[in-house]
Amino acid sequence: MTDELTLAPVADAPGATRTPVQAAVLSTAPGRLQVEELLLDDWLAPSEVRVRVRACGLCHSDLHMLEAELPVPLPTVVGHEVSGVVEAVGSDVTNVAVGDAVVACLSMYCGRCRACGEGRTFLCERRNDLGRAERPAPRLVRPDGEAVGQVAGIGGLVERTILHANSVVRVAAEVPADRAGLLGCAVLTGYGSIVHAARVRAGETVAVIGCGGVGLNLVQSAVLAGARRVIAVDLGAAKLETARRFGATDVIDASETDPVAAVQALVPGGVDHAFDVVGRAATVTQALGMVRAGSTAYVVGIPPVGEQFSLMGIGMVTQAKGLRGLLMGANHFPRDIPALAELYLQDRLELDALVSSRIGLGQANEGFDLMRKGEAARVVAVLDQA
Ligand SMILES: [Zn+2]
Ligand SMILES: [Zn+2]
Repeated sequence: MTDELTLAPVADAPGATRTPVQAAVLSTAPGRLQVEELLLDDWLAPSEVRVRVRACGLCHSDLHMLEAELPVPLPTVVGHEVSGVVEAVGSDVTNVAVGDAVVACLSMYCGRCRACGEGRTFLCERRNDLGRAERPAPRLVRPDGEAVGQVAGIGGLVERTILHANSVVRVAAEVPADRAGLLGCAVLTGYGSIVHAARVRAGETVAVIGCGGVGLNLVQSAVLAGARRVIAVDLGAAKLETARRFGATDVIDASETDPVAAVQALVPGGVDHAFDVVGRAATVTQALGMVRAGSTAYVVGIPPVGEQFSLMGIGMVTQAKGLRGLLMGANHFPRDIPALAELYLQDRLELDALVSSRIGLGQANEGFDLMRKGEAARVVAVLDQA
């Protein structure tokens, strides 16, 4: 922890001096990432922190950006499942200090808008203004001066970066960096969807469609909540075997059987809660078919832009079923991420088996290729082993 404490120069003026950093940049979409040298501002706004990135998980929403299924301003640094160490803080920052191990979360919040006032900080109405509102100088530029954005206000595939203080939270340093970052998106989304949004109770029944990084966390969080039946649905034996390791009581291979009929056979009448992590019309329809009358199906996975859901209206009404989109597990991450870290340190939350491969920054494209094959739970880029 000692060397970080001395490594924190902060410049007097915005953009006056800059430090070179290696970053994985998306310049065209659809497209592949280019690892290039960017220049990071040495100056911090009062609400900003500079973080040395130690690891960054690759998330499906990043992949959507590479494939132009989720439009973002380009060029930009992708990645948002970040763990790192605070190197410097702006003059107003009190929630973290130099040397702290932190996790970033894209659910950054202002604390003052209507949504924040209602306690729903994940819906903050001003989150897009929490960059550099005064725009004194871009945080990251190319050597020719072109500004480079940060996906979701984070942009984690970079050696060090500047973040808003309300997008980071301190975590126990005992959580290994390559696993800690996953708490910021995949784990948080799965946990929050079960605990905060659906409020799954002990003895209830749950179905999860899609057992990647988020789906596995829906499964293990349903177990944590005390669900008596946790049914995992995916294509292929390998992913379903992993789902069993995360606590699924039953697994259904949708490549071999009709998953709706299979769920109805396991739980006659349907489950209390069904979660679709795929975000496609076909699986959303399946999730609605899996829940019992009076229950709700949740869309957790981000659908590609343009994806439409079409529903059988009469069934929705006569069976009083609900369909609801969930954003980032309705989290308040400064409360949730430390709690999840504690559960991990107590051996009550599985993070180790979530990391299916570790790569370097230069292999980010290969990491997304692994994700395209649908085999990976989570690919994590490790930028700093220290
Ligand atoms: Zn994500
Ligand atoms: Zn707000």
